[in-house]
Amino acid sequence: MEPPQESAAGGRKRRRRGGARNRRKLSSSSQQAPPSPEAAPPPPSSPPSKRRRKDGTGQATATPKRGNTSSLLDKMRARLSGGHFRMLNEKLYTCSGQDAFDYFKNDPTLFDVYHTGYQEQMSHWPEQPVNVIINWLKSHNTSWTVADFGCGNAAVAKNVKNKVFSIDLVSDDPSVIACDMAHTPLDQSSVDVAIFCLSLMGTNYPSYLEEANRVLKPGGWLVIAEVRSRLDPNNGGADPEKFSKAIIQLGFSLVSKDMKNKMFILFYFRKKEKSKVAKSIDWPQLKACIYKRR
Ligand code: SAH
Repeated sequence: MEPPQESAAGGRKRRRRGGARNRRKLSSSSQQAPPSPEAAPPPPSSPPSKRRRKDGTGQATATPKRGNTSSLLDKMRARLSGGHFRMLNEKLYTCSGQDAFDYFKNDPTLFDVYHTGYQEQMSHWPEQPVNVIINWLKSHNTSWTVADFGCGNAAVAKNVKNKVFSIDLVSDDPSVIACDMAHTPLDQSSVDVAIFCLSLMGTNYPSYLEEANRVLKPGGWLVIAEVRSRLDPNNGGADPEKFSKAIIQLGFSLVSKDMKNKMFILFYFRKKEKSKVAKSIDWPQLKACIYKRR
């Protein structure tokens, strides 16, 4: 399998500024709204101007072409926001969840920048991991309570009948709990499924999984989708076996691993009925996922 190129899939139409910045009270969503549309592409630039004027010599002289100017501006804007997205993306992969939470709390508008860029990148992936997870949930029990850790645009909550706790760093949607997901306000042993879809970003990612372990009921599912290259030892990534082993040591069994997608790997774990956390767990470092410049 060729090493994956990060870029792609996705979708998230992201929230507007000014959302709840602090951790909210528990809330859940079980709406069935259609998935949010993709971020709108930049407006098409107008065709090059054909207007010409005569100068003193009587010769036709081209006026500045407004269409070209605006298309150049569009390109420059796209390039700048792409660069800004990549900077924020790198930041999220190289700081702790708490630092990321504080960072976006100081300027929630940056979160929109991040998610617009993320959506653009994801639109190039042949398959969206979040859709695979949504379909998996749909084929199981609608009475299961779900926690979507790092929910993004809360696509899971919008597309399944289950009760879903959507969790992310910033929210202006009352159904999304804004917090660092290492410390959620969910009760212990209260959910049947914990999802991490491309969201194990912080340097302290094991603490997110520990939190999922806390809130999951015995026998509950832990579903993880991660970017393939982060778990590709031939490419500087972590060994997926070591990653699974660490989660098994946390008290889970690996039920299945889905490697068939080009861009991501899916893991399905279940919390053991009598789970016990190993004294010391050797967590592999997950390398940052750096998206291609487009
Ligand atoms: N799961 C969504 C979004 C993936 S992008 C999807 O598949 O579409 C990763 C998300 O994880 C981002 O929205 C980011 O804000 C969130 N995230 C990363 N670290 C987090 C943390 N410590 N606490 C809460 N959310 C976090």
